[in-house]
Amino acid sequence: MKLKDYLLISMKKSVNNKDLAIIGQYLGVVEEFLPDKQSTFIKDGEIFATKSGTVSIDKNRREIQIDTHQEQNRKTVKIGDIVIGTVLFLRKFSVGLSFFTINDKLHFNSSYMGNIHVSHISNRYVEKIQDAFQITDIIRSKVVAEKSGEYTLSTTGKNFGVIHADCAICGTKLKKIGFNKLKCQRCGNFEKRKISDDYDNLKTNLRF
Ligand SMILES: [Zn+2]
Repeated sequence: MKLKDYLLISMKKSVNNKDLAIIGQYLGVVEEFLPDKQSTFIKDGEIFATKSGTVSIDKNRREIQIDTHQEQNRKTVKIGDIVIGTVLFLRKFSVGLSFFTINDKLHFNSSYMGNIHVSHISNRYVEKIQDAFQITDIIRSKVVAEKSGEYTLSTTGKNFGVIHADCAICGTKLKKIGFNKLKCQRCGNFEKRKISDDYDNLKTNLRF
């Protein structure tokens, strides 16, 4: 190998997660990363950015992609997105959710519909939908599937579930008193829910 080529190669440093990358920038080699087709291209086993933005590396799956501002503001829903919405209706085995945020970004003018099946509520067994959710609850969930515009959502995991609930009797915001129990401070009513870890302590920063 010529010295010049050697120097060129040794100058090429793989990027790290959250690095800023500019269009055309060297990111790494295919032995390191699984490149995303939307935001990178491969030449001779080397990966380059086709967009300017923030490098996102999934450590477990070694996937690399470039997230652009456009990506952060997109209005289409993808599998894996975190969404927040209100319970519109309860069915025997599922709830219907109207959601208005995608990855904490609010979309006032759009409304998406998703369903949470009873088997996708919790890792613990949930017998009745009513033990987990009620109409008007605000829920954080994850998109796990999509079929012709209908989204399948899941609330399994600590960070998912109800983030706001009002008392069915008097309408006061309920207080968390146990992992699945809420209490109304005003009228003393007890209710059950699949509650998110950060209920009463929301740090979700909704971007406008
Ligand atoms: Zn009450």
